[in-house]
Amino acid sequence: MVDIVIIGGSYAGLSAAMSLGRSLRNVVVVDNHDPCNKTVSNSHNFLTHDGAEPAAIALTARQQVLQYSSVNLLSDTVTQVIKKNDLFEVLLKDGKPLTARKLIFASGIKDIIPVIPGFSECWPKSIIHCPYCHGYEERGKILAVIANGDEGFEYIKLISNWSKYLTVFTNGPADFNDEQVAKLRKHKIAIIESPIVSLQHTNGNVNHIILQNGNDIPAEFIFYKPAFVQKSDIPKQLGCEFTKTGHLQTNMFGETTVPGIFAVGDNCSPMRSVANAVATGSFTGAYLNKLLGDEDF
Ligand SMILES: Cc1cc2nc3c(=O)[nH]c(=O)nc-3n(C[C@H](O)[C@H](O)[C@H](O)COP(=O)(O)OP(=O)(O)OC[C@H]3O[C@@H](n4cnc5c(N)ncnc54)[C@H](O)[C@@H]3O)c2cc1C
Repeated sequence: MVDIVIIGGSYAGLSAAMSLGRSLRNVVVVDNHDPCNKTVSNSHNFLTHDGAEPAAIALTARQQVLQYSSVNLLSDTVTQVIKKNDLFEVLLKDGKPLTARKLIFASGIKDIIPVIPGFSECWPKSIIHCPYCHGYEERGKILAVIANGDEGFEYIKLISNWSKYLTVFTNGPADFNDEQVAKLRKHKIAIIESPIVSLQHTNGNVNHIILQNGNDIPAEFIFYKPAFVQKSDIPKQLGCEFTKTGHLQTNMFGETTVPGIFAVGDNCSPMRSVANAVATGSFTGAYLNKLLGDEDF
């Protein structure tokens, strides 16, 4: 038996493992090496690693975490978890089952890329969701935002800080109220409602957005927040509850609605960043050490 099995060994999972390894807890991290940012060449806005390759950050993290002898990393997939009284039996695709006192899901989310010709080629090279991650490099360019409704309006407002050459594509009828339309007009942000039929690009660098009405509009970079699904169905199978946004519901310590099961990183937070994944992992790791201490002391 181990103290904790961490499902997902990217930034959030490894950060939790570091807190726990430094607390002399027996930890197994199971990871199948499919982080959400694996196709970007540079990751930004994480202090000391600004602009580094995502895989290089993860490699350093793995090397540092493995210095703690009570932490083991397994390259495998968790296929099922069975709750047995106060313990969890963790089934693996290739390896032997593990038994754990607590579980941390650091399993991330999976973006759903729209089926528009050219879109998947441009994601994430010239289409991205997060201006904090990749906005600075695109500042002052001809930007497009694909967004609609109240949430979309907030997103447009945010992106407008990175360039004054901004057009909004609602990809269907616009759903802004009069006040929002007036504000967009005031800032000279055009609203284009015609559905997008394809993206014209060169090696993934978008140059035009082709519309159903026959127009093609120049764009050098697109901001778009894709819908997502949880990468792992196992928390749902175990009865964990979700927020309206589709994130795992947790309290401030990362505890889900099922006792003994914790979540860290993207799967439970709309603030999607390496820094946040590391912060939540570190905090929940420390909290779990305290919890185990409370149970045993
Ligand atoms: C295109 C793109 C660009 C980004 N750019 C930036 C940036 O520049 N700066 C920044 O701060 N953030 C950026 N982000 C956000 C950042 O990548 C995420 O916030 C961060 O990766 C979240 O870490 P995580 O550990 O929660 O999840 P992930 O990094 O997605 O890792 C989840 C891990 O869990 C594993 N896993 C899932 N289920 C199982 C299972 N059943 N068994 C075993 N393993 C499992 C996966 O294989 C994966 O390794 C970007 C995201 C995307 C999509």
